[in-house]
Amino acid sequence: MKIVIAGAGIGGLTAALSLHATGMTDISVLEAAREIQQVGVGINLPPHAVRELQELGLSAALAEVGLPTDELAYYDTQGTLIWAEERGLDAGYRWPQYSVHRGKLHQLLLDATRHRLGNHAVVTGQRVDAVEPSADHVRIRTTDTQTGLHSEQTAALLVGADGIRSAVRTALYGEKIRLATNGWTIYRGTTRTAPFLTGRSMVIVGDEHQRCVAYPIDAHTVNWLVVRPSVGGNAATVDLGNWNRPLSPDIIARYVENWTFEWLDIPAMVRASEAAYEYPMADIDPLPQWTFGRVTLLGDAAHAMYPFGSNGASQAILDARILAFELARHTDLDEALRAYESQRRPVVSAVQLANRSQVSDVMARVSAMARAQDHGNAAAELKKVEQTYKHLAGFDVETLNNRASWNAVRS
Ligand SMILES: Cc1cc2nc3c(=O)[nH]c(=O)nc-3n(C[C@H](O)[C@H](O)[C@H](O)COP(=O)(O)OP(=O)(O)OC[C@H]3O[C@@H](n4cnc5c(N)ncnc54)[C@H](O)[C@@H]3O)c2cc1C
Repeated sequence: MKIVIAGAGIGGLTAALSLHATGMTDISVLEAAREIQQVGVGINLPPHAVRELQELGLSAALAEVGLPTDELAYYDTQGTLIWAEERGLDAGYRWPQYSVHRGKLHQLLLDATRHRLGNHAVVTGQRVDAVEPSADHVRIRTTDTQTGLHSEQTAALLVGADGIRSAVRTALYGEKIRLATNGWTIYRGTTRTAPFLTGRSMVIVGDEHQRCVAYPIDAHTVNWLVVRPSVGGNAATVDLGNWNRPLSPDIIARYVENWTFEWLDIPAMVRASEAAYEYPMADIDPLPQWTFGRVTLLGDAAHAMYPFGSNGASQAILDARILAFELARHTDLDEALRAYESQRRPVVSAVQLANRSQVSDVMARVSAMARAQDHGNAAAELKKVEQTYKHLAGFDVETLNNRASWNAVRS
């Protein structure tokens, strides 16, 4: 059975590795970029995503590139602690939480895919332009991004893992589904500097008007984000879904000028960043359907979400694992696709919506309490929100530690 995956991103490569682990061999990943570069800044992989990568045999490789996060701490705009909780192994999980450079994670997945499936399995410079699903196969049209030559192939299944601006999603839905911004921008970068607090802390500082998130991704590098309403008429808001629009760190440092604390000098950290990027937050409404005949969607293509709660890449990894698990368990491909979608779509749709409410609603409630010096209730509220989110996204300690593995071998 030939399976084609559109997009060699985190979701697409995890899907290729997961399908291969079940015993499938005819897998081809088509990637639009000619060269896969180590772009992006840091991302966080909570234990539910780490479990899946470890079960794919990537434990040692992951430990080499990732730094285990041991706490998440919220601070108000004065630098006063509101609430902190342990994370990863320290929180009782059987798997760590890793902070990692996104490019290094991507490279790790690419190396593993080429090593296990063969170099030919990932075809770069091939953009998927159009798809025609039918009941028992799919026709896929691609363009060579260097020569401009078009070609066509058929497969038993196409997995659209081509990211936030998915061409496969557009082929299925047309222009009905569009990326939209909530009017907030994320500014982000990495700085060569010593880690702070425990050395493995992830902090969220601020209120409903502006927030800074920071965490080390190795012993010498801190990843940071500043989130605030977009500047009026910001040109970037017309280029939604582009993660890599550069911006001077000095501009961003001015936004956080007053946030110098004993435990972290945020403006100095931002200013010392070698490069910084702006990303107007964008997502799509939850989709009513992921599977159309022999085409299904996965990762950002299926559920582009605001990057809160460290779940964009994690949910893509979970999609990949469950898709492979269901394909291994069912001899009927259509049944497998139905099982995949019915498990994943409702869960991830809820995560998309929860991420929307995190932007301002939650922070408005918590910050109002912190401003009234009611740190006790603010802490209780944050604890409740975090707990609810973990349940929703599939990583509360009990559920994750006790659920069966999604490792499966095709019969
Ligand atoms: C460059 C970049 C930087 C990012 N930085 C961050 C970050 O710093 N923090 C964060 O939380 N999230 C970041 N993200 C998003 C995060 O990585 C995703 O939420 C997560 O990886 C979901 O994985 P995915 O495989 O669905 O999509 P992606 O990882 O985005 O992968 C999609 C892949 O599909 C390819 N592609 C696109 N269109 C086509 C096509 N028509 N045909 C074939 N291939 C195609 C893309 O080149 C890409 O390799 C970034 C994404 C990108 C692409």
